[in-house]
Amino acid sequence: MTYKISDDCISCGTCKDECPVEAITEGDGKYEIDPQKCIGCGTCASVCPVEAPKEDK
Ligand code: SF4
Ligand code: SF4
Repeated sequence: MTYKISDDCISCGTCKDECPVEAITEGDGKYEIDPQKCIGCGTCASVCPVEAPKEDK
């Protein structure tokens, strides 16, 4: 299971620094998660102020 960032993302950048495998990068208008790198730890979801990272099953 991986996580995917929804359009609710306000591009604050908090999750990028917290991801243990550096799967998060700044995309066009919102941040994005590389599904090849994400290990589904959920840290991005817990630190996000707007709960933008969602489980992507
Ligand atoms: Fe990184 Fe964990 Fe979020 Fe996946 S779930 S993008 S590994 S912080
Ligand atoms: Fe977007 Fe949330 Fe990550 Fe901030 S912490 S960049 S709002 S997904």
